[in-house]
Formats: sequence, structure tokens, C-alpha cells
Amino acid sequence: MSQEKLYGYNGRIVRINLSKEKISTEKIPIEWLRKYLGGRGLAARYYYEEISPDTPPLSPENKLIIMTGPLTGTTVWGSSKAHIVTKSPLTNIYTVSNAGGHFGAFIKKAGYDGLIIEGRANKPSCIILNDNEVKIANAEDAWGLKSSEAQKVLLDKVGSDKGTVACIGPAGEKLSKIASVQVDFPGARRGGSFGRGGVGAVMGSKNLKGVIVSGSKEVEIAQPDKLSEYLRNNLSLLKETTGYHTKYGTAQYIDSLYELGAYPLMNFTRTRVEEDLIARLSSKIFREEFVAKDVACYRCPIACGKYAKPNMEEYKDFTSKPEYETIWSFGPQCGVFDYNYIVAANNLSDDYGLDGISAGYVIGFAMELYEKGILDKEKTNGMELRFGNSEAVVELTRLIGERRGFGEKLADGAVRAAQYIGHNAEYYAMHVKRMEFTAYEPRAFYGMGLAYATSSRGACHNVGGWTIRDELLKPKIDRYAVKGKGQLVKTIQDVRGYVDSLGICTIPRRSLNFTDTPSPEVFKFVTGIELDINLNSIGERVYNLERMILNREGVNRKDDILPERIMREPIPDGPAKGHVLSPEIFNTMLDEYYTARRWTMDGIVSKDIKIALDLP
Ligand code: SF4
Repeated sequence: MSQEKLYGYNGRIVRINLSKEKISTEKIPIEWLRKYLGGRGLAARYYYEEISPDTPPLSPENKLIIMTGPLTGTTVWGSSKAHIVTKSPLTNIYTVSNAGGHFGAFIKKAGYDGLIIEGRANKPSCIILNDNEVKIANAEDAWGLKSSEAQKVLLDKVGSDKGTVACIGPAGEKLSKIASVQVDFPGARRGGSFGRGGVGAVMGSKNLKGVIVSGSKEVEIAQPDKLSEYLRNNLSLLKETTGYHTKYGTAQYIDSLYELGAYPLMNFTRTRVEEDLIARLSSKIFREEFVAKDVACYRCPIACGKYAKPNMEEYKDFTSKPEYETIWSFGPQCGVFDYNYIVAANNLSDDYGLDGISAGYVIGFAMELYEKGILDKEKTNGMELRFGNSEAVVELTRLIGERRGFGEKLADGAVRAAQYIGHNAEYYAMHVKRMEFTAYEPRAFYGMGLAYATSSRGACHNVGGWTIRDELLKPKIDRYAVKGKGQLVKTIQDVRGYVDSLGICTIPRRSLNFTDTPSPEVFKFVTGIELDINLNSIGERVYNLERMILNREGVNRKDDILPERIMREPIPDGPAKGHVLSPEIFNTMLDEYYTARRWTMDGIVSKDIKIALDLP
């Protein structure tokens, strides 16, 4: 990458020190763009350089590193993504979180590729990026407001229709370790969130309510005609491969995962309920009875976002955009099979600025403890926390967001709640590295267990590897096979590594040829750059860099582990009945994974792979 003029990139970031009220613009080392592309990879590179392993996550020394990719804000489908990398207060290690919507595109339009936010403001503040101008402004008028209200107040500071906002709600201000940063709140633009890992608490710890971005610059494309032609020629492939996303959003997966016995219910205690209960949760019911509006991220024709409206009078104003994951967390994870309550709880979760996966998860976790008698009304402040108590799910979401009553005990995630509850409660907390599980039963497809265990940020289906694509939906590999899973998980993690670094969404990636055997064509049309290694190797480099950071922070084989329940208790019912990820099975897969990665058997990035991938 020796060219002088950059296409696709602005080539610079802005660094904002809130303690010193100092703002500076820096060029991004060209070498880093070549090696890490942008987005997640570039953010990890800055983290590697700037955040020492002993940095307390909620201290002024921690940083919010927000990066876009070369494709973010272009006409490429799904070019909406921005990533936040920071030290997580939930897991106490490196974390990465991404959001779609319009935030990333507007960072590019404002003339930057990213921001690094340091220090701590001495009063509630916000950052404004507006066509090359950057300033720190007072945000006392927005402090204390829910995300949707704060978004409007903050956006007014630049003119309400000109840009967008990423901001925290009350949960972030109160330093909940499962707080999110909400993007594009309803009423202005499509919603999204930097959800996982407690990034909202890091923003709150800096006295920062939000970042407002606005601008008019178009991203310059190296070969615009070729790009347009490519997109025209591939539009029918896009429609063919993403049609279900357009109709049902990610809710489409509920039916098939339940059918396969891979949809965990009631804190992973079963996979079967009465037919009439699960039928109420079908994606068809969701589409026909609850979806009020389809919404899209920046210039995305797929529009997989589904704004849903409860039809119960009590909740009719609680519109929200639940995804497959949050339908599960506020629904079946808590024994709830009614979209009215799920959409309402999801609305509160977004408005208070919570990670909806962790918030719903921790409520279902508490419900199991209550059912088992480990929790009682004295500890829950009088709440009857039985599975299926829909009103309690809505109310407890509010209490977690406000850190009030029993919600205070759940507001820092399942592991810390278990420590408060005692009585071996952690046995029932499904987590890896303190990050709660998502809506996939790893005993029903073993690759998912390995993905949860080895993900760069704790239990995660995205960064860890969405093995469902090869194990369940159109199975290319036996879901209970042990051999081959190490390589499978590595491959999927690496693909996600380069896709996240390009700054695009994973849903349209196939029609852009960003597959397991990718073509760099679209990247080249945008940037004009001929890569000297393939995109998979860049994804592998990004994953290894993240692991180097994790190794430095003390993570090794002992941490790449699944909860005892998953390794000891077989699934009690359904098509996957009897399957368990025993320590023997798990360790065989983990050995194969480390071998495929060329890491040591203790999970440490080896010198050989560092040299091979030209890592620092
Ligand atoms: S596919 Fe959905 S999530 Fe992805 S960019 Fe398009 S609208 Fe956003």
C-alpha cells in the first residue's frame, strides 16, 4: 500500500482526552491499514499499543477505541459497521463490540475513520464530530435521561436531521457491567447497539453521555463504475440469499433451531415445551401479528430490522426491535412465550441502555435459582421469580436498568449475581470468561461449544464463530462430530475477523464474495489496493492479535472452558436428548483447535505464528 491518495479511508482518527479537554488529529499508520484493514482489526492494533494489562476497566486510563472500516459508509450493501474495542468491566479483559445503523457511516462523513476517547470529563459531557470540527460539549441536559430521550437532546445540538448519536442510558451512567451504547434511537434513525461486554459502563465512567456525529463528506471510491456494475450484477444473488432476513429478520432462526433441539429454554434446562407455547413464538406470528415496520442500516437494501409493537393495551407504547437473540433472552430463557412481554422488555432494555442478551439471560438465571429454592422472596425483594412470570421479566428489566431493588444484584451480570447469592449459584450461570451465553445450545452442536470457549470476548456466537451455518442449517459436518470442529471454528472466526475489519455486516457478505474462499474484488474497487495476502490471512492475523492481547491479560487454556452443567448434564429432551459436551470431547476439540491455530497446547500464541503473520 504505497499509494499516496487513499480511497475508502479518510486516513486519520481523532483523539479526545476528556480529562485534559485536548483534541488532536492523527494519521493512521499506512502499515496498519495494510495489515489490519480497519474496524475491529485496526481497533485491536491501537488497543495492543495503548492499553496495558493492569488497566482498570472503569478508570480514566481505559480508552474507548471506535473504528470504522474501509467499506463503512460506502454504497456496498451492509456497509454500516463500527466497532468499539475497550477493556471490559464485565470480563475484565479485552472486548470488542459492533453496531450497525448509521453511526459508522457518519464518522466517515465527518472526515475520520475513528475516534479514541481517553480520560474522564469533570462533568457530564458529549463529543460532537461535525464535518472536520470536533468539540467536547456540556451534556448535563441529557444526563439521567433514557437513551431515546437523550438521543433527541444530543442530536438537537447539531440540528436534529443532520447526523446520529451513540449514547448511554441510565444503566451506563450507573456503571452496570452489562450496559450498552445505543445507536440511532427510534424516532430519528434505525436503532442498533454496541451491546456486549459493558462498553456502556466504560462510557459512563468517563462522564460521557454520547457521541454525536454529522457530516457531508462522501467516501471516495477508487473505481466507482466497477463497484456499481458489481453491485448491479449481484443484486439478484443478494435477494436470493437474504430474502428471509428481509421478511422475518433474524427471528427466522427460532423455528429451525427449536426443531433441531438446539434452542435452549429456561436457562439451558430443556429444549422442549408444549406445542402451543412454542407455536406462539414462531417467526410467522412475529411477522404477521407484531412487526410494524421494516428498518435498514445505512444504505442497506435488506432491511432486516423489525420494529415490533405489542398489541396489549398496557404495553402498546413499548415498540422495539428485538432480534433472534433478545427474543430468546427475554422470552424462552425466562419461560416466556408471548411477544407482548418480550417486545416490552426489549424496549426497556434499549431505553435504559442494557445489553439485551445479558439482561434477559441473568433474569432467566435468577428464575432457575428461585425455582430451585436457592433464591427466595426475601432476597428478590418480594418478587415471585418463577419461569413464565412475564410481568416480572418486564419489571426486573426496568429494575436492572435503574439498579434498584433486586435489579441491583443482577446489574453486573450473572457471575457477580451468583457471588452475591452464594450456595454454589455459579454452577447455574452459563458463561465463558464471565460473558453470558447466547441463544444456542452447545450440547446440540459441538462446534458452538468450542466457539463459545475460544471467542476473543467470552461466550459469543459472532466473534466466536457462528458454526450453525455448517453444523445445522445446511449441515456440511455432523453436528456431534468431534474431529474437524477445531478447523471449522478457526475458519469461521477468521472470516468474521476480516469481515468485521472491512466494516460491513455479515448478512450480505456472501453476495459480496466475502466467503471462506474470498475474492478481494469489492475491497479493491473501493480502495484501489491490491492486497499482498488473502483476506482470510488478514482475519487470522486479527484473531491472533486479539489472542496476544488476551494472553498478555492472563488468558490461557484454563479460561477456554465451558460451564460444568454443559460438560456434565446431558440434554434431557428433544432431538438432541442425551448429548453432553464431556470434558473428554471438549478437550479433544480444543487440542485440535490449538493445533489448527498453531498455538501452544496451553492456548498461547506461538512465536512461529507471530512470525508467519507478521505480528508485533
Ligand atoms: S443486513 Fe440488517 S443488520 Fe446488516 S446492514 Fe443490512 S439492515 Fe443492517
